[in-house]
Amino acid sequence: MRELSAQREYRDMGRSTPPMPGLYIHIPFCRTKCSYCDFFSITDTGPMDDFIRALCREAETRRGEFPAFDTIYVGGGTPSVLPVKFIETILTTVRRTFTILPDAEITIEVNPADWGLPELKSLRGMGVNRLSIGVQSLNDKELRLLGRRHTAEQAMRTLENVSSAGFENVCIDLIYGLPGQSIPMWQETLSKALSHAPAHLSCYELEIKKNTPLGRRFMHGEYVQGPEEQQRGFFMQTSVFLSGRGYLHYEISNFARGMDRASRHNLKYWDHTPYLGLGPSAHSFHHNRRWWNHGSVQNYVRDLDAGKQPVGGAEELTREQLALEALFLGLRTSRGIDTETYTRRYGIDLMAEHGPALEEWQRAGLVEITHGSIRPTLGGMAVSDRLALL
Ligand code: SF4
Repeated sequence: MRELSAQREYRDMGRSTPPMPGLYIHIPFCRTKCSYCDFFSITDTGPMDDFIRALCREAETRRGEFPAFDTIYVGGGTPSVLPVKFIETILTTVRRTFTILPDAEITIEVNPADWGLPELKSLRGMGVNRLSIGVQSLNDKELRLLGRRHTAEQAMRTLENVSSAGFENVCIDLIYGLPGQSIPMWQETLSKALSHAPAHLSCYELEIKKNTPLGRRFMHGEYVQGPEEQQRGFFMQTSVFLSGRGYLHYEISNFARGMDRASRHNLKYWDHTPYLGLGPSAHSFHHNRRWWNHGSVQNYVRDLDAGKQPVGGAEELTREQLALEALFLGLRTSRGIDTETYTRRYGIDLMAEHGPALEEWQRAGLVEITHGSIRPTLGGMAVSDRLALL
């Protein structure tokens, strides 16, 4: 019955099959701040008990708004800063409050400095079936530059432990394009990561944000960022290296050993599937509306203690805005854009509207236009941010 009501709910979005919404839970704590990070998180873990209580209340305020979830993603911040008993509290609460499908993908982000084998085994016992390990590099000098609080050896041990604990669906997060890093150095990290045969790798280019310790070191001239071409070289080499070893490059930064190992949760963000975000600064999307929670643990707890939803802002997206986003997001993925579905959902015939620009991109080798789809080439993925500026 629930699936039937979900089918009705999403029919108006022009889909042939109903995609199930995803549930995101933001843990706002980190033990220390990494030198490159400008995400929202705090290092004072004092309010941890208050936060867990508020999070459970927030789930309750959203009961019945979404038909069911088939993915849960616990991210941050650093979820592994929490004792595992709190992860159990969170999972028990969301299972009691919402309908979670039996084959749901349940992912938790883990810092290699935190949980050992006993904790990882407990998580497996709670039904967590996917881990995303924040390795970032397997070179100690690079880890120090990034301000990570773990070593390469700790990361390798954690990767052994996750496999001993029975996790088969493991993602390794890595960063490339660091100051002083050469392509052979990057490939050494990739090779060490592959020795654990991960199901999935997320490889991100280092972004230098001005308001971070690393950004300030760049501004003082301590480091120089490589030219754009060099950074693009990292991107291309990563794709060639991993594709040659059996990984599918299915999104700009994401590689999986087959689409059945792609992140089911993250795929939802790229095709406008609804999602609910719980926790400070978490974003949600449903019925063309996007809203986000306060980016302050104090205000988040205060609102929930007062019986209010901790929403900091919201926007209604027009069909045109959604269409533009869908174009931008679709061109990030190897699957590209199915033009018929696009027209049905957004009321825009892409070829009629943007034919000359699309054909120019095709001539430049950035997209492939076939009957019914527009897909980025590898070169197109490398510049996809600009492709969307039609
Ligand atoms: S662990 Fe993640 S969220 Fe926390 S400071 Fe480092 S990069 Fe930022």
